[in-house]
Amino acid sequence: MLTAWGDMLVPPQERRIFSRNDEMQGPLLNDYADLKNPLGVHENCPNEKKPYSALIFRHTVTIAPYDIIVCALCELRIMIPKEIRTYGSLREYCHDKIKTP
Ligand SMILES: [Zn+2]
Repeated sequence: MLTAWGDMLVPPQERRIFSRNDEMQGPLLNDYADLKNPLGVHENCPNEKKPYSALIFRHTVTIAPYDIIVCALCELRIMIPKEIRTYGSLREYCHDKIKTP
């Protein structure tokens, strides 16, 4: 869960967003997996037209103390600390943000 509004990031599995059957396959990434672009898919993206087309990317902002994760299709923009390197730390960060807005 990325936001208090229920935006979900669905991580890719084995780094392949699309398999031959346009379905995600393979073992789930664990929390220690490094974040790599694309980070995953914005589940229930309001602009999504076909399954798994709403990819979420991390943008590094060199002059800012934060990076941004961005949905390629909608207006979703979330600032995250540059220190966040893994899916587990991203999950914890977002969880804490939701609890204490
Ligand atoms: Zn989206």
